[in-house]
Amino acid sequence: MGDAFSRRRFIQAASIGAAAVALAPHVRGEEEKTDKKKLGFAIVGLGRFGAGQLLRSLPECQLCKPVALVSGHPDKAKKLAQQYGIDEKSIYGYENFDSIKDNPAVDVVYVVLPNSMHCEYTVRAAQAGKHVMCEKPMAVSVEECQQMIDACKKASRKLAIGYRLHYEPNNLKAMEVAHGGQYGKLRQVVADHAFNIGPNEWRTDKKLAGGGPLMDLGIYCLQAARYLSGEEPTHVTAQTWQPENDPRFKTVDASMAFTLKFPGGALANCSCSYAEHGASGYHFMTEQAYGRLDQAFAYGGISFLLKDRGKPTQLDLPQINQFAAEMDAFADCVMNNKESRTPGEMGMQDLKIMTKLYEAANSGKTVAV
Ligand code: NAD
Repeated sequence: MGDAFSRRRFIQAASIGAAAVALAPHVRGEEEKTDKKKLGFAIVGLGRFGAGQLLRSLPECQLCKPVALVSGHPDKAKKLAQQYGIDEKSIYGYENFDSIKDNPAVDVVYVVLPNSMHCEYTVRAAQAGKHVMCEKPMAVSVEECQQMIDACKKASRKLAIGYRLHYEPNNLKAMEVAHGGQYGKLRQVVADHAFNIGPNEWRTDKKLAGGGPLMDLGIYCLQAARYLSGEEPTHVTAQTWQPENDPRFKTVDASMAFTLKFPGGALANCSCSYAEHGASGYHFMTEQAYGRLDQAFAYGGISFLLKDRGKPTQLDLPQINQFAAEMDAFADCVMNNKESRTPGEMGMQDLKIMTKLYEAANSGKTVAV
């Protein structure tokens, strides 16, 4: 893991306990303060996630509000602007995006485009003087991630990656159980994430996606192994499957299985796929406990079974609006000059490990990270 996101910070985060409660200002009773000042967010890319989840969640935020839209489809943007009370003058296309620098209502630009466009729009947003949130995967190469970090540093703007599960109570509790020390050392993580993808998706076009299901789904398993262990893998192995007769998988693989080895002794066994009706979750074993999070990576409906030395308890933690929580947490960082718990360095580390995973898959060898 990069220096900026150390094991110490993982532990700090986990020690918050049901930490989304501590992190999400809407649960913290700050309505009075936040009603007076909210940061203006511009959503770049009005697709399923940008419009369907983030824009829809902004009205639920305590510290943020929607103030601008960036889209290649003016009609769609106009309709959404009306729906969310956004000034039509604050609708931008990709070609005039840089003029957002002259819009003082915009504090934060949230990049929700296909993966290969994340770097360009993050750099342009920073150059326009805006703080940036960017969706996962941060970019399609380590070099691009470094460019994004450098651009934000140069402009003295903050950068965070949309790792929403770092603001979600069940996953935060799992971090505490897995490496908090109360249940002994973490030994194994088993994580899977998959769905059956439709035809003609940018996600299966290597130029836009940067890779196959690892970039989109396996990254959740990789993240889980990192945040449950609170460590960085030292060695990885991987295998991919790319069917010859399926037109969806001309440029990317359909499935990947991979393992990660951590210095404290934990092993992670992960799978991701675009070719199966799959799982979204993980289980893990420490010396004393077993934890199972069904739907761990989903937007809601996450369940947490904890067996403490064999004795089972179904934990009943809050299901929150993860998107509102992550955007409010970033706004809190901007307003109070704090570092995000999901900074660019965390995104770059994922790219570094994913690059090694592809190297392992191509060579058939165990690769050191
Ligand atoms: P989508 O296909 O639904 O939307 C993509 C948007 O980008 C569309 O508005 C499209 O018009 C625009 N676009 C601009 N140039 C494009 C091009 N050349 N090709 C295709 N689209 C183009 O995708 P999505 O599911 O909203 O994903 C967008 C980003 O959000 C991805 O990086 C994805 O990994 C991320 N995402 C994150 C989560 C999460 O839970 N954090 C969930 C879904 C998606």
